[in-house]
Amino acid sequence: MTLYPLFADLTGLPVLVVGGGAVAERKIESLLATGAQVRIGAKELCATLREWVSQGRIEHIGESFQPAWLDDAWLVIAATDDTELNTCIAALAYERRIFANVVDDATLSRFQVPAVVDRAPLTVAISTAGAAPALARRVREMLESLLDHAWGSLIALAQRHRSRITARWPDTAGRRAFYDWLHDGPVMSLLRTAQPAKAERAMLNALNSPAAPSRKGLVLLVGAGPGNPELLTLRALRALNQADVILYDQLVGAGVLALARRDAERIDVGKRCGGRHTQQEHIHRLMLDHARAGRCVVRLKGGDPFVFGRGGEEMAFLRRHGIAYEIVPGITAALACAAYAGIPLTHRDHARSVHLLTGHGKDSLDAMDWPALAQGRQTLAVYMSVSRLDELTHRLLAHGRHPDTPFAIVENGTMAQQRVLHGVLHKLPESARQHAIQSPALLIIGEVTAMASEHAWFGERMQRAEDATEHAALELCEHG
Ligand code: SAH
Repeated sequence: MTLYPLFADLTGLPVLVVGGGAVAERKIESLLATGAQVRIGAKELCATLREWVSQGRIEHIGESFQPAWLDDAWLVIAATDDTELNTCIAALAYERRIFANVVDDATLSRFQVPAVVDRAPLTVAISTAGAAPALARRVREMLESLLDHAWGSLIALAQRHRSRITARWPDTAGRRAFYDWLHDGPVMSLLRTAQPAKAERAMLNALNSPAAPSRKGLVLLVGAGPGNPELLTLRALRALNQADVILYDQLVGAGVLALARRDAERIDVGKRCGGRHTQQEHIHRLMLDHARAGRCVVRLKGGDPFVFGRGGEEMAFLRRHGIAYEIVPGITAALACAAYAGIPLTHRDHARSVHLLTGHGKDSLDAMDWPALAQGRQTLAVYMSVSRLDELTHRLLAHGRHPDTPFAIVENGTMAQQRVLHGVLHKLPESARQHAIQSPALLIIGEVTAMASEHAWFGERMQRAEDATEHAALELCEHG
């Protein structure tokens, strides 16, 4: 069966629906949105349908089916659970040259209702010609995640000014270039960042200017989350599909990069060569050069760009150089590792607050308020701590944190190879050495981490007997 796709204008036209249950309700809801005049025939109506009848939104024309119901209908939908009746309705409709849809029966149907992605006025309709509607739903889910809601606003804007656009660009090639600019340039970014009035002004300025608008570059500072691609946000996924160039960090997983637009240029800026300062300047330079060349640059960082990610410096740099930017938050390692190890970072009984710290850099340890950090009933989430465990532990103990405070270290959190090591604070450096904990690892200290062994849910769990006897409180969960 090959179907001819069409979008029908049903405004003011009578459409008959037979059946009064939940399926009929769903069909009627979308019919009403198109302005069709819906008539329903059914013995019993569900509550919503009864309400619509009483509000005058639909007309209830009778209980037992009458062929005369079909007389002036343009379309009919048979949504009863009586197969014989559905077959009869389909046959009568065929005789009268009315298109009929029998719900869940492709062979009896003369038209089918597709799965829809609604970004009005944009509508994407998906059909498998009735072969596998469940798979059409999967395609719909994919498109739902790719098409953000700014699409609807962009198309509505183009619709409002369509005659001006045609007058300004009477030739097809010029017009097509203008529409490309509308999508790739500032107008779409302004819509995405909730600035519709500015978007409209930008478009009108472009229409009033004698020169063709040029494409302006844009930098998106995107948080890629902790490495597991499932933990990307929808906005991050869309940004990866929008990118011309991707500047990515060491911590960004291959699984995440694999989701990016195929022809996007990927540049690894995470290699630890040269001084860190040069490295950062080099990244700034790349962002600037590519954006000035009119490209959409995605600066992709592990976790969240604003949590120990130098996102603040990069944003300030872009602003100084007049480059448009957008920040896409990501799930930071502390939230992700805690969740994937079964550790609630706050808990009514065990932790009133959570502190995000970094162990990196000597100055950073000296600058911290250790008496405050050493207090009980609060959670510390320490980034980049693997090489500073001795010092961290020493300072916490020296300032009075209880030696038996539980800790957990989550190595490669959220990834297949995730390992969780837990124990008590005074044995932390020794345990980490014993189990050769490597970066990236997140250290969590606090009463809440005691929940980790019992509540672990991710990955395979393994206990080491020698640890259990040697260090009573220590337990290792190895995953992957
Ligand atoms: N901006 C990032 C942090 C960058 S600093 C964020 O918001 O997560 C790098 C540190 O983050 C690592 O040294 C480690 O402590 C932590 N980290 C990042 N990803 C991790 C992961 N998958 N598992 C454990 N720790 C991780």
